[in-house]
Amino acid sequence: MNLKVPEKDVIAAIATPPGRGAIGVVRISGPGSIEIAGRVFSGARNPSDLPGYGAALGWIIKDGARVDEVICLVMRGPKSFTGEDVAEFHCHGGPAVLRLVLEAVISAGARPAEPGEFTRRAFLAGRIDLSQAEGVADIIASETEAAARAAASQLEGALSERIGSVKDDLVRCLALAEAAVDFSDQEDVPEGLEELDRTLESARAKLQKLIEDAGRGKRYREGARVVIAGKPNVGKSTLMNALLGSDRVIVTSSPGATRDVIEDSVEIGGIPIRLFDTAGLREGGEEAEMIGMKKTIKSMSEADLVIIMLDGSRPLEKADLAVMTQAPPSYIVAVNKTDLPSQMSVEEVAKICGPPAALHISALTGEGLDGLEQAIADKLLGGKGAASPPFVTNVRHENAIREALDNLARALAARQDGLSEEFLAADLSRALDSLGLITGETADEDILDIIFERFCIGK
Ligand code: GDP
Repeated sequence: MNLKVPEKDVIAAIATPPGRGAIGVVRISGPGSIEIAGRVFSGARNPSDLPGYGAALGWIIKDGARVDEVICLVMRGPKSFTGEDVAEFHCHGGPAVLRLVLEAVISAGARPAEPGEFTRRAFLAGRIDLSQAEGVADIIASETEAAARAAASQLEGALSERIGSVKDDLVRCLALAEAAVDFSDQEDVPEGLEELDRTLESARAKLQKLIEDAGRGKRYREGARVVIAGKPNVGKSTLMNALLGSDRVIVTSSPGATRDVIEDSVEIGGIPIRLFDTAGLREGGEEAEMIGMKKTIKSMSEADLVIIMLDGSRPLEKADLAVMTQAPPSYIVAVNKTDLPSQMSVEEVAKICGPPAALHISALTGEGLDGLEQAIADKLLGGKGAASPPFVTNVRHENAIREALDNLARALAARQDGLSEEFLAADLSRALDSLGLITGETADEDILDIIFERFCIGK
């Protein structure tokens, strides 16, 4: 790693969010942190006498006065988050008292920590790699449960493991390529070249899979636009309200009530979704309705997914087919009003919508809506479902994987064109460097600054 060894000073910060809470934590890390804690703490036991993960009850003393009654928790390096000696004061969670405790600790010899400095130390100490450190920030920033699960899997090392396996392949290829260079003046093709080709292809396939997975990650991160379209009166507004769990849109039994596109946000299967209810599509109608229909067609063309609604209590009509012709490549057909006697033949619908089969729902009673939500999530995640969290959720990681793939493509081309193994070795080294950016071996100070800047102070 081409990074500066951190200065071994003691850093301190309030680690809990601003505002009031049951407890607030002041964290201190670095060699001598436990002694510094001892200078401001008065209790039955001195922090320096505590074993790792030992705790003591006592008072924080500042300028001779008692500030707060706290628990002092001691973690001894390397068995701590930063890998260094760490002391934490679990205080009462008020902003003023926490500031006083932090000031006391700073007067006793610590310095205020920079954003993310604790995690940066954990990374520089080799406790976690860079993608795991980013997992820490992502867990904190997660707004949906799916995002939190993906971040936890990254922190656990799921991405690092996959990148590590590709790196192993590439290191093996480099060794084989170098051996081939050494034997290049011999007549026989070195045996290792076959293994090299196989390993190279396996590495490429693994990276390709990760890139496909990045598409899922992007969905969780950036969300999707989902448009509900169909003839007037099929139940679009009722479905919009049902999915939102509120009466956002006015529902009437007179066709053409929704003249404008109405949008709102909802989370489906962990994906943040912008949901659009549109004006019904039919022939004719007055001017305002025509303008509404134009907007519907525009929304459909900009959608990631369209839900085409049919009214199952009526026979299929030409106007239903007209809606289908406007559908983008990604759509779901939902036959609504299953609570009423069916007038629409399943075969007829299947003929026009093709596989997968249409879903039967009742927007009014809620029947079939769970299945519809599942289908929406599956469709947006490329049929992969939300069974496992995505491995690649971060644009930085995705870019590095693409860079590595480009270098591998060049390496494969070099093999096919019979270029010398030196060219191959150069491409392989570059691919390894790109992957090292993810785990941090080839990351420089500037990259670390950018990454840790987005952390909060105290993490
Ligand atoms: P839109 O014009 O497509 O937005 O349709 P609306 O949501 O305004 O609904 C039109 C009419 O159909 C209203 O009277 C709704 O109550 C009714 N409706 C919608 N969904 C259902 C359903 O699943 N079952 C039944 N029986 N009626 C429904």
